[in-house]
Amino acid sequence: MKNDFSVIIIGAGVVGLSIARTFAKHNLSSVLMIEKEEDFGRGISSRNSEVIHSGIYYPKDSLKAKMCIKGRELLYDYCIQNKIKHNQCGKLLIAQKGQEVDLTALYQNAKTNPIPQLRIIGKDEIQSLEPSIQADSALFVGCTGIVDAHQLMSTLKRDSENAEHNYLFKSKFIQAKSLELGYEISIENASGIIEKTSADWIINASGLNSDIIAQGLGKSQKLNWPQLQYSKGEYFKLSSKWRNKFNHLVYPLPDKTHDSLGIHLSFDAMGNTKLGPSAHWMKNRQKDYAMDKTHLNHFFSEASRYIKGLEMDDLSPDFSGIRPKIASNDHSFSDFYISHENASGFPHWINLIGIDSPGLTSALAIGEHVGKMVL
Ligand SMILES: Cc1cc2nc3c(=O)[nH]c(=O)nc-3n(C[C@H](O)[C@H](O)[C@H](O)COP(=O)(O)OP(=O)(O)OC[C@H]3O[C@@H](n4cnc5c(N)ncnc54)[C@H](O)[C@@H]3O)c2cc1C
Repeated sequence: MKNDFSVIIIGAGVVGLSIARTFAKHNLSSVLMIEKEEDFGRGISSRNSEVIHSGIYYPKDSLKAKMCIKGRELLYDYCIQNKIKHNQCGKLLIAQKGQEVDLTALYQNAKTNPIPQLRIIGKDEIQSLEPSIQADSALFVGCTGIVDAHQLMSTLKRDSENAEHNYLFKSKFIQAKSLELGYEISIENASGIIEKTSADWIINASGLNSDIIAQGLGKSQKLNWPQLQYSKGEYFKLSSKWRNKFNHLVYPLPDKTHDSLGIHLSFDAMGNTKLGPSAHWMKNRQKDYAMDKTHLNHFFSEASRYIKGLEMDDLSPDFSGIRPKIASNDHSFSDFYISHENASGFPHWINLIGIDSPGLTSALAIGEHVGKMVL
């Protein structure tokens, strides 16, 4: 018997929407998107720094390096073609005295990947580029930028809907059952009623729930797929006196113990400036987005190392996001997990697990990568 759809995508975040857009480009119309929230982009994709990353941090040949570098180029082109707000402002990755070795190591790593517009600059050039920043040296990264993530997602959804894709909101994926070809899935709708539908392919792009949804396939047997650990990131905004004060994003060296990029300074299209995200491992998997005001001191002490004249009163709590990190004992680098699970006995099932930063930058490249697996 024929299935209801060719493809079902679970999760209308930037990744699921980018995958749908690839299918739209290839005129595949039999696509259903299911999303538990009432609209698209209510998960990780709307709680981040909105930075278009260069790809300097990731080991050569990792999926993060490949997807980020390709995704960045695709994203700038897509923004230009679709008039999505963005700004290729560049960034300064700054080092203080004693940190030069770490900065050079990052520069060397960056050079192993094909990343344009990279150079080490000294104190004088930092002063002329960013008079309010104090640092002894910096890696100037010209291809970094910012993007309006919401506008990006609404444009991707428009492309997908133009190809007649179907969207089910307030619809939660519950479980899947293997069929001779494809899967039958159960969805809980807004009234709590369970409905069933089927597809030849299932793509699990459900962000913070992706590992649990993947395990749902194994029933009693535990599948050897990655599990997630959550890392919360908070942001504090700077008062209006700092609006439009900076021309570049400013990053300290990465925080290796938390596998994060450190508390950096970024801004939006209106010039509003924010600090963050911090990184705290969460003991449980509750999606707790509450801001802890007692973290103000930590933010101030980190940022006042590099922002001249910053005062404690300039900072106020903004928002937080949660990173879906692939769990490991030492919290070292974790790559994206993007896999067609044929070898585990689940043909036509694709898992995307651990799509943390640079997932926004990489989304269009991930969409093409997954599209190739299916098409
Ligand atoms: C603090 C922070 C800062 C970041 N900064 C950057 C940055 O500057 N640049 C960058 O490139 N990346 C950044 N990232 C990473 C980037 O935001 C993510 O990689 C990306 O948004 C992940 O998108 P997604 O579609 O996989 O997840 P999501 O946006 O979370 O989408 C998954 C969707 O699945 C839905 N879902 C879950 N369970 C179910 C279910 N059972 N049934 C139906 N639907 C379900 C959810 O509701 C959600 O809408 C940052 C992340 C964080 C947390």
